[in-house]
Formats: sequence, C-alpha cells, structure tokens
Amino acid sequence: MPIAEPSPLVPAPSALRANLLAAFPAPDQFDPVLAHFLEQASQQLAQWLGSAALRSPLPAFAALAAAAAPAQLELDWAGLGPAALLADLQRVMDGAYNPNHPGALAHLDPPPLAASIAAELVCAGLNNNLLSEELSPSLSQLERQVCIWLAQRLGMPAGSGGVAASGGTLSNLMALVTARRAAGLACCPDAVVLASADAHVSLNKAMAVMGLPATALLSIPVDAGGRLDVEALAELLAQQRRLGIPVIAVVATAGTTVRGAVDPLSAMAALCKQQGVWLHVDGAIGAVFGLIAGHRQRVAGIELADSVTINPQKLLGITKTSSLLLLAEPRQLGAAFATGLPYMEPSWGGGHGGECGLQGSRPGEVLKLWLGLRQLGLEGIEKLLDGAIARRRQLQQLLAGNGKLLLRGGSLHLLAFTPAAASVEQAELWSQTTRQRLLAEGLMLSRPLYAGRHHLKAVLGNPHTGPDHLAQLAQLVQASLHD
Ligand SMILES: *Cc1c(COP(=O)(O)O)cnc(C)c1O
Repeated sequence: MPIAEPSPLVPAPSALRANLLAAFPAPDQFDPVLAHFLEQASQQLAQWLGSAALRSPLPAFAALAAAAAPAQLELDWAGLGPAALLADLQRVMDGAYNPNHPGALAHLDPPPLAASIAAELVCAGLNNNLLSEELSPSLSQLERQVCIWLAQRLGMPAGSGGVAASGGTLSNLMALVTARRAAGLACCPDAVVLASADAHVSLNKAMAVMGLPATALLSIPVDAGGRLDVEALAELLAQQRRLGIPVIAVVATAGTTVRGAVDPLSAMAALCKQQGVWLHVDGAIGAVFGLIAGHRQRVAGIELADSVTINPQKLLGITKTSSLLLLAEPRQLGAAFATGLPYMEPSWGGGHGGECGLQGSRPGEVLKLWLGLRQLGLEGIEKLLDGAIARRRQLQQLLAGNGKLLLRGGSLHLLAFTPAAASVEQAELWSQTTRQRLLAEGLMLSRPLYAGRHHLKAVLGNPHTGPDHLAQLAQLVQASLHD
C-alpha cells in the first residue's frame, strides 16, 4: 500500500529545533529520537526504582517543594526539549512516595510489577479508548476475557464476567447502582444498604452519589475478630422487612481496611439468597486470595456473591489503577448503565466498555493487569500471597511476645496494634511518636483510628520486606512501650 507523502500543510515545529523530539511521533517512519527519549525515561525510572532502599519511604519536604515550585509550572513559549523534560520528571520523582522501599508498609500500595510498568507505557502509546469497541478492539476483547478468567478463578458461576474500573471506590459504587437497578429500586428514596461497621468508606461515598442520605447505610456490629455479626444482620434484615423498608444490597467485606478481617461470606450469602437480597463482596483487599487454591479458604463463599470488587492494584502490584467489578450476571451492568451510545458503531465483540459501567472514556488498564498476571504466573501469585501471610505471621508472633500490645489482625496480611494499657490520649501520642521513630529508621507504618483508639498498622504485602526488617520493627515497637 503506498504511503502518502507527509503533507507540507502539517508543520512539525518541534522537529525543527535542535533536540528534534517531535511532539507527535511520525506516522510513516521509525523515530530514533522518540525511541531514545523513551529509553532515557525508562533508564531514569529504573534508577529511581533501583535506589529506593537508599532513600526513605517518604521523601523529605524539601523535595516536595522543589517538585511543585511555581517556576516549574510556567510554560516555556517555545516548549522544552528532551533533557529539560527528563529533568522535570526527575523533580517529581524525587518528591514521590517510594513504594519500592522495603520499609514501605503503611498502606495497600506495593512495589510496581515490572511487566505492569512496561504495559502502562505501551498502553499510553496505544492511546486506545475502552469507551467503545472500535476505539479499542483488542483491548475490549482482552478486558472481557480477563474478567471472565478472574471470575472463574474465584469460582463464580459460568457466565460470570465484569468490567474494569478506576479503583475499588468506583467498583463498589457501580455494584450498588447495579444492585439497586436489579431490585427495581432505582427511583426509591427510602432504600437502604447493609454493611459492617468496619466496611470501607467508599460505601459512604456511594450513598452520596446515589442520592441517598448517609443514614441509608445501616451499620452492623463486628465480632472480636472484626467480622460482621451474621445474627445481627439477620435481625436487621427481618426488621427492614417488618418496617417495609426495601434493601438494595448487603455488602460483605473480604479484607477490612484496618485489620484485614473477612466477613462470614458463606453464611451471609445463604442469608441473602433466602431473603432475595443482592450480596456484594467488597474484596478490594482480599479477593486476590481466592485466585489460588492454597489460599482460597481465606475468602470461602466469595463465589456465591452477586458481585465482587477485586483490586489487583493492591497486593499483586499491578500499577494503579487496577480494579474490577465481577458479576454472576454481567448483563445486569448493561441494564444499569447502557445508553445506546448513538454516536458509535455497534459493538461486534460483546458490548462496549462504556455501556457496562459508569466511566466513559478510559484507558486499557487491563493491559497492565493481563501482562502482570502473565509475568507472575500462578506460582508467582501464590508466592506473593504466601510471602504476605508469612510476614504477617512473623510480625504477629514477634509483637505478641511482649504481651503489652492489643493486636488486631485477621486471616490476611494486615496487622494493627496499640498499647493495651494506654488511655485514648496516650495511645494517640504513642502512635505519633512511634511512627516518627520508625520512619527515621526507614519503616513506614500508618496510624489508623480504629474502635476509638489510634493504632499503628502494618500492611505486609511488600515482597522486599525481609525477616530482619520485621525484627527491627518489632524491636523499635518494643522499645516504644518502655518510655
Ligand atoms: C482500598 C479499598 C477500597 C477502595 O479502593 P480504591 O481503589 O482506593 O478506590 C474499597 N474497599 C476496601 C476494603 C479497600 O481496602
């Protein structure tokens, strides 16, 4: 096929300058300047990742100031060349949170997976749009297939599938909107959602977006292990029925945010089935354990849910964002969100991405998930899960030894703790000073307020964290209790 001559009407001003980096890559020839630029950016990133342990998990405030100095935000009239652009990038990198540090244990933000990084770069270059099939033919197909694969691995029924979303907050919102539609309650102002007291704050946001009052989220107490009390749920459901209040859904949490507790999913599923109520499992933290046979019992019953949120961006290290909403009946998504997309060619492959979710234009985030899973393999996933559980057990053992801490864990890879004998005020002060001391040694924990007291919390999903780091952590915590 003959390739058209580049039109003289299309100027390429940046290509005329000394640096020769074209603003838009040439469509008819390999551009060595572009390739070199991407290589240099990759080199810089690999340096940053490879020197993570030499810095702190949290950058110094001076680095933050440099990254966002007003002078850096002014646009140069003629635009910048590659060297200046790379320097701009470096300033922001210097002020960035450092998840590849072995002591980065504060949150559910692990080091990035190598294949995921490459896929993210390629995804940006493809610049496809999951809104519609013709704007992302291969990626639309891939997203459907990966959702089906994930649902099958979790043991969901044949015909299950789903959609990718920009984060678990959005997956949870889409689940509740879909459940509400399926229950015929889309326009009902009185309907309620039931979830445990430890459920994620994204449910509160969902209430606001769905036009429901904050009080429409009914809270069920948890037991000593942080798991929803099923008897209390049964009572509350019966009460709603007596009062004639319609229920949109029950939300179970598979992995609560502070302690990683998993609600009794099977019992909740049985109850919901009996009552004809939609069960959504917020598995943003825990659902990945259902992918591997040896860990599946940690989230047993997840396969019985009507919908499941899973966040591969958390433990698996798929680069953000990577969340999916999986449904036993994925066509329910279309019932809730489809608009007909009148300005698009019809989908030929099984539905437009923009017709089965809230988002319109969105990137092919499934690429970095798929490539990351391909790189890990089932063995790699299992090792990640094994390692995370082993580290939580080690830390739990070390901290239990001193007898002065109240430990709050679960069956996953999170552990929160607070001095057992301290007052609320003492616990807050302890959490502040201990976090600072740990940070000075390169160990970053978070400081959640849980059950009315400040705790320190470790998320043990970071594969770079070794037994020595945990021993040091336990020792510093031990010392903090003697002050
Ligand atoms: C992280 C988390 C979410 C929200 O996910 P985002 O990707 O941060 O929006 C929802 N539920 C639970 C239990 C979580 O831990």
